[in-house]
Amino acid sequence: MTGTVQGVGFRPHVHRLAGELGLSGYVLNDERGVLLEAEGPSGAVEAFLQRLHADAPPLAAVERVAAEDIEATGENGGFSVAASVRTGEPLALVSPDVATCEACLRELFDPADRRYRYPFINCTDCGPRFTIVRGVPYDRPLTTMSAFEMCELCQAEYDDPADRRFHAQPNACPECGPKVTLSPTLPEGSDPFGRVEASLRAGQAVAIKGIGGYHLACRADDEAAVASLRARKHRDEKPFALMAKDLTAARALVDLTPAEDALLLGRERPIVIARRRPGAPVAASVAPGAPDLGVMLPYSPLHHILLADVGVALVMTSGNVSDEPIAFDDADAAGRLGGIADLFLLHDRPIHTRTDDSVVRSLGTVRTAPLMLRRSRGYVPRSLPLPVESPRPLLACGAELKSTFCVAKGQRAWVSHHIGDLENWETLLSFREGIRHFERLFAVEPEVVAHDLHPEYLATKYALERDGVELVGVQHHHAHLAACLAEHGVQGPAVGAIYDGTGLGEDGTVWGGEVLAGDLAHSRRTGSLLAVRMPGGERAIREPWRMACAWLLAAGEPARPSGLEAIDAGRWEQISELARSGLASPLTSSMGRLFDAVAALCGLRIEVSYEGQAAVELEAVADLGEVSAYDIAMVAPGGESQAPDLVLDARETVLAIVGDLRAGAPAATVAARFHNGVARVTAKACARAAEAEGTGVVALSGGVFQNRLLAERTVAALSGRGLTVLMPEGLPPNDGGISYGQAAAAAARLTGV
Ligand code: ZN
Ligand code: ZN
Ligand code: FE
Repeated sequence: MTGTVQGVGFRPHVHRLAGELGLSGYVLNDERGVLLEAEGPSGAVEAFLQRLHADAPPLAAVERVAAEDIEATGENGGFSVAASVRTGEPLALVSPDVATCEACLRELFDPADRRYRYPFINCTDCGPRFTIVRGVPYDRPLTTMSAFEMCELCQAEYDDPADRRFHAQPNACPECGPKVTLSPTLPEGSDPFGRVEASLRAGQAVAIKGIGGYHLACRADDEAAVASLRARKHRDEKPFALMAKDLTAARALVDLTPAEDALLLGRERPIVIARRRPGAPVAASVAPGAPDLGVMLPYSPLHHILLADVGVALVMTSGNVSDEPIAFDDADAAGRLGGIADLFLLHDRPIHTRTDDSVVRSLGTVRTAPLMLRRSRGYVPRSLPLPVESPRPLLACGAELKSTFCVAKGQRAWVSHHIGDLENWETLLSFREGIRHFERLFAVEPEVVAHDLHPEYLATKYALERDGVELVGVQHHHAHLAACLAEHGVQGPAVGAIYDGTGLGEDGTVWGGEVLAGDLAHSRRTGSLLAVRMPGGERAIREPWRMACAWLLAAGEPARPSGLEAIDAGRWEQISELARSGLASPLTSSMGRLFDAVAALCGLRIEVSYEGQAAVELEAVADLGEVSAYDIAMVAPGGESQAPDLVLDARETVLAIVGDLRAGAPAATVAARFHNGVARVTAKACARAAEAEGTGVVALSGGVFQNRLLAERTVAALSGRGLTVLMPEGLPPNDGGISYGQAAAAAARLTGV
């Protein structure tokens, strides 16, 4: 039997079932999954086989049951659970970390229970998994729990097939398991949680070691506390995530749909981005200017105790300084967070793999599936199928921002936890370590390595340095398309509108507003946003007004428009000159940059402190009731062989926006008309490409489609034309999904389909 069948209570399930049906035999974990022999009357064996699957425990994911008749031994000595064996290659899937289950929660808050308020309570239905695993098979000696020897009571639970903690690898109690400590330390005998509560109430910042790393916490309703945390973290305006005690407490902060309730309560416990409630008791510095808040519920017993004690929602942001990776190693955390936190709540269970909180956003009216914005804790390392079986084991290295990697073998792919922006040595180190860990965990020895075409990405450099492998370069936007198709089990033909910030194109320019047509293996660019200059290169990402300048110049309107008076006239002229000459100003067809330009024209953003901020705010101000749209021209340029068939030309659009704003139209109206215009022209371009390609399937992906309003309007426009629309669901539309797309494309190319 293969699948996620270890550490999820599968053997107790088999044991119970065999007992019920009067079968003899044994069950054990091996490196491929679960192996068992059962003997008894044929009807009983059949019922057994059927219920193995049907009644499987909640966390188990049975992928395959291979049954084989063997000689009866005539034994009727009952059914036993045998020790794990190491035989062949490890394929038994390690489960993701799971939020504390209801049964454990009841014990946690039961004063009569021996684990009352024990911050490390868990069972086979819940608890840490991926973050504590060092190797496979998933048994205690290969986890970070190996140093804790179980007491008699815990050992008895662990050994009893009828117990909820039978072979629960992180099983522990206050006698024998991990313990919390404080730094600075407390006098002997005092309650660490009492001290943490007092500190938080007083407005202090506390570093808290959790499941996948450290958080920095403070009261969410205390402006002084939040503002001071923000200043100490050197984090400008990027919103902080919140943790609320329960669903009721979360509802005081955000408006929640039933779909969002389910996401919050799910065993993955992601951060859910939802609409901020008017008058929510949240300090202004939590999410300056953002209409949404990111909220999660407690997912470890430690968090449950903390939130129950403090009673108010907490800021729970990654334990790091600005863009560094989240701290998970104790010594490192003490060093890096020492200047930020007033107090540390620590514990002595090591975290093996740094795993950030996952982030999801419900897509509202047009789609039931939410958008995954960051896929990490709770989801990783669950495998994803590949629509095409890879003939050889492979590694895909991903892109640069929001980086992930992916290992794959046969029809199965494992996408890594969120590594972060691969821009510094420390992140590169965790990228390399993560790859080694996944290769061991899933026994993948890559013979093929897929990578982005950008030669300067650290992930590409890593790929090129691997010895003795075949390299497969996959264009960035094709990888976005392939990821979306593969996730839906589609091989193509299909077309895709792939809109993002930046990705190197096949012609050496920066792409990002592309309509592609093709299949899993290959696609060609059939349509593209008109390319304009990015004055000063990367700096145009930080300063969206530069993109406004470039677009206006392209439209033949060199004058600085009203609304951008904040930009010094001389500066405007300098940047115009850069764009005109093309000096240090690459051409880009990026849709993300056009959103930046429009946000700047609307007077929303002159500079941003994180990528995508201007677009987020443009979406936020848009008047949802506005149905009219700006026209975006669709022209056939002809000429050069590398040019796309269709160009989406927004020059007149930009002029119309400036005209409307000059005439006094509110930014809300302009923003909505712009979103509607992009949705409309996208549907038109995709429909035309789909017809030429002979397909009815359209994929929408790329980071720009994290924009809910744009996604909704585009899906509606495409559905209205009778096209089937695919969007990423299990993986992010942003560059976090690139590695999986590279793997799917490489597998398809190797197979030749
Ligand atoms: Zn449990
Ligand atoms: Zn114990
Ligand atoms: Fe991208």
